Amino acid sequence: MISQDLLYIICCPACKGYLELFKFRDFGKQTIMESLVCKDCFKIYRVVDDIPVMITDDLSGEKEVVFIKKWKQQFPMDVWEKLKVKLNERWEKELPKNLWKIVKERVLNDD
Ligand SMILES: [Zn+2]
Repeated sequence: MISQDLLYIICCPACKGYLELFKFRDFGKQTIMESLVCKDCFKIYRVVDDIPVMITDDLSGEKEVVFIKKWKQQFPMDVWEKLKVKLNERWEKELPKNLWKIVKERVLNDD
């Protein structure tokens, strides 16, 4: 588990923003998965074996889409609303156009 002390020390490598810790319950595996989200640019960082992966392109493009598709419902609503806007901007640049259209409709659409 990531300690609060560590969160005071580390920052987003992309923009130096503060990071917020989120825990997601994996109901299938009965485990808790942690990840860090930048409060400024909303970049997401995975936590693997209690170690935050502070690499900006570790989770990007299609890999980030898969991550979001799996965990989006466990973000608090206010965070998800802001995250959606940022992902929308980011994925429009990162993903191929045809994939982007599908992702926008199926992953970012809450209906
Ligand atoms: Zn950031």
